[in-house]
Amino acid sequence: MRSDPGAIINQISLRNGHPGEGLSHTSFSNDLCPRPLSDNKFKDLSFYVVRDDLLHPVLNGNKARKLDAVMPILQENSVTDVVTCGGCQSAHAAAVAVACSERGIRPHLLLRGEQPEISTGYNLISMLYGDITYIPRSEYAKRDEMLSMHASLVGGQDGSVIWLNDLFKKSIDDYDSAARFLEAKESTYTFSKVGQDLRKVVVISEGSGDVVGLLGVIRLVKCLSENYVIGKEEKVTIVLDAGTGTTAVGLAIGAVCLGLPWKVVAVMLAETIEGYKRREKVLISDFKRICEPKYQASALNGLDDGMVQWVDRIYPRRFGRVKKGEAEMCRHIARQTGILLDPIYTLAAWEHAVCLCRPEAEDRSNVIMLHTGGTLNMFGLAQRYKPHFQV
Ligand SMILES: *Cc1c(COP(=O)(O)O)cnc(C)c1O
Repeated sequence: MRSDPGAIINQISLRNGHPGEGLSHTSFSNDLCPRPLSDNKFKDLSFYVVRDDLLHPVLNGNKARKLDAVMPILQENSVTDVVTCGGCQSAHAAAVAVACSERGIRPHLLLRGEQPEISTGYNLISMLYGDITYIPRSEYAKRDEMLSMHASLVGGQDGSVIWLNDLFKKSIDDYDSAARFLEAKESTYTFSKVGQDLRKVVVISEGSGDVVGLLGVIRLVKCLSENYVIGKEEKVTIVLDAGTGTTAVGLAIGAVCLGLPWKVVAVMLAETIEGYKRREKVLISDFKRICEPKYQASALNGLDDGMVQWVDRIYPRRFGRVKKGEAEMCRHIARQTGILLDPIYTLAAWEHAVCLCRPEAEDRSNVIMLHTGGTLNMFGLAQRYKPHFQV
């Protein structure tokens, strides 16, 4: 999808307040022209930020990476409609809506719960770009059923429906004979030959958690390793915030397959550690099943139990809630660095990056935070947690 997979990199320097004082006493400064890691050698207290928040004004950076390999597959197969789902402020649903609309594909979004009184943030973008249906929570709980049913409705009597992972597998299997694949008639997975108005519907799972989402993240790893600031030689710890954990697993798979001395630390924000480990296993095994040997997945042998280091948030709280002081912290960092963080996701990664680059951190390496984006998230949060956002 992206003609240029490149990323902008900033270097953040820290000046500590008194020892033991929290993040709000640390001052930060942003160097927009970072020094290469090989020159840095811990001379000063700093970490790097990969600014995927700058990829697109309304399409969330992290979701844009995941859709990087998805959109070409949809286009190559002349898909007419996409069905996906998410929460009411889903960055994923909004991203699918924007990316599909850019390519003449109709996006159908199933959003959980009721229509909000005021539409803002990702909800507003979803409404502007996509076809929204609000789904009662009880029905939403049976996600696959709900998606399948809605997709058949969109497809109509003669249209065809396929899940993204199945379409991707077919695309890879038949890569050398894509033309033949497009004409395949009997398979239930592939699209039958369609007339002009027949719909070809693809179902994308919640949060772009499909294995094909990993490919765009792997492309990012390759591009970072070729960037003069980062390179292939230095030891690196990449820190990021995790929702479904797909991005974190994609980074780890990319590093292993490309032979990079990189470690991935993911802050768990939506699931228990058991949930994340289970998900990592499934993604690795799906990746190996679908991609091997084209993408050197043999490097992953023996690593089925996981590569990502899953960590708790430094200042813990209940999943998905904003705590007092966090919006203020985001303001502190925004004013000193120009970088906008949201209190739930990207602030959690920032907190960890600060800790890992402190001199007392064990196993010190160069710390790189992946800014996963989510700027529009702020609007929904400010509406929901009004008092925290009042100055
Ligand atoms: C979607 C999203 C995440 C979660 O990504 P996963 O791959 O699901 O872990 C994290 N941060 C932001 C800003 C996001 O939009």
